Formats: sequence, C-alpha cells, structure tokens
Amino acid sequence: MVISEADTTKIVNSLRVRAKELLESGEVKVIIGYGEGYTKGKAVPVFITDPGKTDQLIFDARCVNNLSMYLKHAEIKAMGKVGIVAKGCDARAINVLILESQFKREDIFILGVVCEGVGDPIEEQCKSCVANTPPVYDELFGEPIENQGWNDETFAKIEELESMTQSELWNFWVKEFDRCIKCYACREACPMCTCTRCITDKNQPQWVPTSPHSDGNYHWNLTRAFHLVGRCVGCNSCERACPMDIPLSLVNWKLIKAVHDEYEFIAGMDAETAPPLATYTEGEETDFIK
Ligand code: SF4
Ligand code: SF4
Repeated sequence: MVISEADTTKIVNSLRVRAKELLESGEVKVIIGYGEGYTKGKAVPVFITDPGKTDQLIFDARCVNNLSMYLKHAEIKAMGKVGIVAKGCDARAINVLILESQFKREDIFILGVVCEGVGDPIEEQCKSCVANTPPVYDELFGEPIENQGWNDETFAKIEELESMTQSELWNFWVKEFDRCIKCYACREACPMCTCTRCITDKNQPQWVPTSPHSDGNYHWNLTRAFHLVGRCVGCNSCERACPMDIPLSLVNWKLIKAVHDEYEFIAGMDAETAPPLATYTEGEETDFIK
C-alpha cells in the first residue's frame, strides 16, 4: 500500500474543505461525492448543495460506485455546474461522456482522487487499474501514484472461457443469462448507458423481447455488451448492481481486451480519441461488408 491511513484522512479533509469553498463561492451548485451508508460497511452517493454539509464527504475502499453515471441526468444538469469526486474509473467514464457530447468539460469541476482500489477484498478490476491516478481532474487529492496496469489474473477466467468449445461456451452463457430477471439494474448503474430510451424498452417494433426468458435474456445482455464495445471503462458497476450475480465483467473484459489487442485502445484515457468503432475514415478496408 502506498496510500497510508494518514494520507486518506488528509485526502478526505482536503476534499471537504475544497468542496465547501466551491459551494460557498458559487463556482459549483452541487457536489456529488460519497457519504456514509445506512448499512454498516457501505458508502452511498451524496448530493451536497449546502456548504455547511460538506463534512458528509468520505473517501475509502467502500466508495465503489462510479458516480459519473449521474452526470448524464437532466435533473443534475439543470442544477448548474457540478463538482464531482472522481477516482480513476469515474474520471475515465467522464472522458468518454465528454467525448460523446453528454456534457461539456467546463460544466463540471473534477475533484480527482488517487485510488489504490476499492472493495473489501479489493475488487478484481482494481488489480488491473490503468488509472490509479485519474487521467483528468481540476484538482487532485493525494499524491500521484503509478498505475498498476493490466494483471494476468484479471484475464485468467477469460482465457479459460476462450479455451472452451463453442457448445461449452454457449452452455456456460445460457446458464448465466438464464438467471437474468430483466431488472435493468446493470443499465442504470452504468455511466456509459446513455440512451434516454433504451432499445429494450421499445416495443414498436420490439427489438428485444421484454420478458425474462432464455432467448430474450441472451439478446438483451449481448446487445448491451455490443453497445459498450470500446466505451466500457471496466468499473464493474453493472456486475455489482446485478441482483442475480451474473458475471457481466467477463463479457466486459473480453471486449475491453479485444479492443485493446485489435486497436491498441483503452476507453476514457483522454476526451479526444474516439473509440475505434465510432470512427470511420475514407479508404478504410470495407471488404467485410458484402
Ligand atoms: S458496462 Fe459495466 S463495467 Fe463497463 S462502464 Fe458500464 S457499468 Fe462500468
Ligand atoms: S442487473 Fe443482472 S438481472 Fe438485472 S437486467 Fe442486468 S443482467 Fe439481468
């Protein structure tokens, strides 16, 4: 561990002080951060508009949520400039959202926090973090640390799946997706699910069967995965939100790795480089379109 308990206390204290200043000066209208949860051991998102209440802010390993998902909501945008506490994966998601014109960089003030990983025990995706020091911020809390980078362990299960025969793989995923109850918690928790009306909610025509059954579940989960190719930041918010414990991270990391191997691209490292599947240049090979 590079960040000591004393460092964490310092980070939290400075976050509280700066958040107070930002609200008092009117530079931001609301601070989105983490506060104590109602259940022991949990942190919850907090939305602070009163400068007298910034002592609610906390930051520690319980702060697992990717708060950037709130920035796309009209209710938040209507409040004015937003201050947001962002660890690396939140900051990467912010970059993707800016790139996709969900809001402008100047509409938000990023209180970046250096993070060594969240969860207890530390979550798997944190062991392969490429943004322990957030790639974008207005002010950084904590001393910059080196990014851990991809760890073979994170890909071990994916390699195991890759070694399966087609029918074994099919059976594996049918069994997992069969448990899906179509609650859409994964979609709601995901910063990258930005459509105001999701394809799965459309019934004229109906693209994805709405009831939770084998065919529709497979269709829904794969449609969502493909919409996230080159955009997913691997924060694991979707898997964490899933009440049926479906290992969505295996789908996400498979696609994250494929995009990296094929295009040397990792989503959200800056707000300028468009994802490979969202760009097209004249003269590109199109032989595959027949
Ligand atoms: S798909 Fe899951 S891991 Fe990827 S950005 Fe969305 S919530 Fe995060
Ligand atoms: S959160 Fe889980 S159960 Fe709910 S729709 Fe997503 S995959 Fe299905």
